[in-house]
Amino acid sequence: MNTELIRADFPILSRTVYGKPLIYLDNAATTQKPLCVLDAMRNEYLNVNANVHRGVHWLSQQATELHEGARETVRRFINARSTTEIVFTRGTTEGLNLIASCFSEACMQKGDEVVISTVEHHSNIVPWQLQAARKGIVLRVIPMDDDGTLDLEAFRRMLSQKTKIVSISHVSNVLGTVNPVEDIIRIAHQYDIPVVVDGAQSAPHFKVDMQALDCDFFVFSGHKIYGPTGIGVLYGKEAWLDRLPPYQGGGEMIEHVSFEKSTFERPPLKFEAGTPDYIATTGLAKALDYVSSVGLDAIQKHEEDLTRYTISQLLQIDGMRVFGIPADADLTTLRHDAVISFQLRDIHPMDMGTLLDRLGIAIRTGHHCAQPLMDRLGVLGTSRASFALYNTHEEVDALVAGVKRVATMF
Ligand code: PMP
Repeated sequence: MNTELIRADFPILSRTVYGKPLIYLDNAATTQKPLCVLDAMRNEYLNVNANVHRGVHWLSQQATELHEGARETVRRFINARSTTEIVFTRGTTEGLNLIASCFSEACMQKGDEVVISTVEHHSNIVPWQLQAARKGIVLRVIPMDDDGTLDLEAFRRMLSQKTKIVSISHVSNVLGTVNPVEDIIRIAHQYDIPVVVDGAQSAPHFKVDMQALDCDFFVFSGHKIYGPTGIGVLYGKEAWLDRLPPYQGGGEMIEHVSFEKSTFERPPLKFEAGTPDYIATTGLAKALDYVSSVGLDAIQKHEEDLTRYTISQLLQIDGMRVFGIPADADLTTLRHDAVISFQLRDIHPMDMGTLLDRLGIAIRTGHHCAQPLMDRLGVLGTSRASFALYNTHEEVDALVAGVKRVATMF
């Protein structure tokens, strides 16, 4: 993988902040966009813009072709069986809200349970809590050990007649740990319980294959995979999407409307009320094509090298704690996604983030929208560096030097 060539596709990476070269290590929050994505969106606005579906005129048909072509690109990217299973959303959060709302309406009664885990992002906690308040459903939480490993035995014991769905993140956005979703899906399916996978932090970093994974739902965000903001994907097995009621009502999702009664489109349109963000779907498709052209295997290897290198360098600093790593981990083979949370002595993450920022290094600090996980770790927040395909070993060296410099200030 030629990182230098790749970086040329992302003009923002060559800008400076405070007179220093930008080192962007906040990719778990959002990624930068390659020119091809921006060009595709600009081109559509300039040359093809028209509302999609139903238009008889040429522009509308062209725009519809791009939009539905984007759906096919997503299908191919995640190896879904059919484009019927690909619903466009505003992002991971909307996808999870849609599932929580529609699934609990159709399939859950008061007292029924949803199983989530300790490492979930707020977006996979709060939508279920809203349904808990509305319908009296109950949240059960898979515990984790101090290294961030989920307790599968506890998970197994949690399942009962009352368990109606399991919703779990593929990769923790705080710890970078890759959760055993294959095992969770296999165990849940033994009891005919469907599983939702929050792929916000997995789809950008390694190959996800819906048919191999066999999850029932999978959600991710465009902006974390080099695509535009405001667009995301909800994959759902066709049988489930057929069974769930619509999420919102309005244009696009109807088949026929009268004042007495309306009937709805089949999935995926049933879940896409209103004019879709068809410019963003074009941008997302371009981003996925870009990722595919670099190759997810190459991206995964590159990011894994960077991650292992960073962890080993950080751990050499006195008083450093890196979260989500077993004490006896072999760093040369550690399976860890491109997210590293750390804490240096008692230096406040806000101080760490602010001082690194002055060196041109963008990391994220705080609770990372995972406050229950912070409670479990016994911290208020962490400092988090996260990588994308364009990050380099030199940038890691600058981060480590920066952290060492901060250490001397306290
Ligand atoms: N889940 C996880 C694991 C995440 O990392 C994020 C984003 N930080 C989300 C959900 C929410 O994604 P979005 O804000 O794009 O909806």
